[in-house]
Amino acid sequence: MRRVGVFVCDCGTNIAAVVDTEAVARQAAEMPGVVLATTYKYMCSDPGQELIKKSIRENNLQAIVIASCSPRMHELTFRKAIAEGGLNPYLFEMVNIREQDSWVHSDKAQATAKAVDLIRMAVFKVLKNKPLQAGTIPITKRAMVIGGGIAGMQAALDIADAGYEVLLVEREATIGGRMVQLDKTFPTLDCSA
Ligand code: SF4
Repeated sequence: MRRVGVFVCDCGTNIAAVVDTEAVARQAAEMPGVVLATTYKYMCSDPGQELIKKSIRENNLQAIVIASCSPRMHELTFRKAIAEGGLNPYLFEMVNIREQDSWVHSDKAQATAKAVDLIRMAVFKVLKNKPLQAGTIPITKRAMVIGGGIAGMQAALDIADAGYEVLLVEREATIGGRMVQLDKTFPTLDCSA
C-alpha cells in the first residue's frame, strides 16, 4: 500500500475557527496507508510548501492529500511543490475544507466530521491514482459543428471569423432548424428566415 501524507491547513482562522484541524489530522492518521498527518497555519506559504517537500523526503511519502481551499486557488501550487519534493504531481488529491466546509457551516463538531469524511474519500482515491506525465500533441486546427440550427450556424460563423476552417453538418436538407419554421420573431417582427 502507498505511504500517504495528509496535510491539513488552518488558513489562519479561515478554516481553524470552524474545523478542529488538529482533531482532523489525528483521525486522518488512522486512515489506510496514512503514515503522516499534520496541520500547518498557511500551507500555501513558502514554509508550508517546504514542509510538504521535506515530509516527502523524510517519510518516503508516495501519495499526498492536502485539505485546504478550493483547487482553483492552489492545486497548481501544490502540484509544483510535490514535484519538487520528488513525487509525481498527480499522486495528489486536494480536499476543499474551506469553501465547502468552514465557510458554509457554523457547527464545529459537524464541520470537523465533514472534513474527516472528505479527507477519507481523498485518501482512498489517492491510493488508486496513477502517476501521469503531462505532454503536448499536435492538433489539426479545423472544426466541425454538428447541427445547422441557429446556434450551430452562429458557432460556425464565429469559428470561421476567428480564421479557422469549419464544417457545418446538418441531417436535414436545409439549415435553419426551428428558427426557419417561424414566420416572424418578437419584438421586431423580422422575417426569421
Ligand atoms: S492553502 Fe488555501 S486554505 Fe491554506 S492558507 Fe493557503 S489559501 Fe488558505
